[in-house]
Amino acid sequence: MLVSTRTQTMALLAVLIIAPLSGCLSGDNSSQIDCNEQEYWIDISEDSPYPGLGCESGPSKTIAITIFVYKDNDGVEWLIENEHILEGIELINSVYNPHGINFIWGEIIMISEAFPDVNDDNEGEAGSIGNSSENGGDYGDGVSVNQLGEKFVEHYNHNNVNLVMVSDGWGAYSMFPWYNQDYYVTFVRASTFNSSFIPAHELGHFLGLYHTHQNHQNTGSDSDLDNALSWSDEWVVPTEGCYRTGDFVCDTPYDCYTWCEEDISCSASDLYNPNPKPGEESDFPQCTTDQHNPSLSNLMSRYGDRQEITDDQGARARYFIQFMVENERNGNQLILVE
Ligand SMILES: [Zn+2]
Repeated sequence: MLVSTRTQTMALLAVLIIAPLSGCLSGDNSSQIDCNEQEYWIDISEDSPYPGLGCESGPSKTIAITIFVYKDNDGVEWLIENEHILEGIELINSVYNPHGINFIWGEIIMISEAFPDVNDDNEGEAGSIGNSSENGGDYGDGVSVNQLGEKFVEHYNHNNVNLVMVSDGWGAYSMFPWYNQDYYVTFVRASTFNSSFIPAHELGHFLGLYHTHQNHQNTGSDSDLDNALSWSDEWVVPTEGCYRTGDFVCDTPYDCYTWCEEDISCSASDLYNPNPKPGEESDFPQCTTDQHNPSLSNLMSRYGDRQEITDDQGARARYFIQFMVENERNGNQLILVE
């Protein structure tokens, strides 16, 4: 983000004078500081477990996407046009650019083969709405790497984000960064790539973001770190409990989505099913906003209006981008665009 107007420059100067008193790493989110790369991307501590939590802005980093495009299920038309790919990347950047993260079209791999069709063999978890598998899978059936053919393996880019455009019927799906995998793939629907925030949501999983309703059932817990041990050994143990519970960020309110009845004995159905059909009404009273007040616009929620991430989520995503740059995992190591 460029700070160009005189008013903003003056505000920035004022902030810079105050900066030595508050500091970028104070964990004080009220500070408004344009941080340097070290502060915005690297420094963490128990009090500030992700980089740049106290920063208003900092230098951006750019990740290149390798885009795989197949033909439709009949092998006739390409699944998506270049113009729609560009529009989709713009939508993704509308979410991540405010947090210093930029995606660009790195390369496109056109594979002149029919994309596999969904069939009964793939219906592993039918009706799994609201699922949250370890790999971050979302609605619908996930196509697997071994269905993508030799050309996918040949052109998979170990240093980029790999994005596969899937045909309708398949679910969107992405891998969390901290599991060891041969192929870190993000699958998104070609037909809605230019208009939906689901691709940005899936990339959120690739960048280490959980659903806002992660660990919703542990309402009394002061730490869910045991649920994330595969990477937390390398991490600090955050001072504030809200960085150790739920989705491991503090500025996303508690979200129990469709499980509020079991979790907190009230229903949130007015948020996700405002016009229930006969028989769908809950036996529980609707939650008051004191009980449950999740963000309905958070990208990592399952509510209809998801389209933004919080500052804490942006900081966590920067943390995992650095993690992927610094760590080689089964031959995968992110290389940023200079
Ligand atoms: Zn998801």
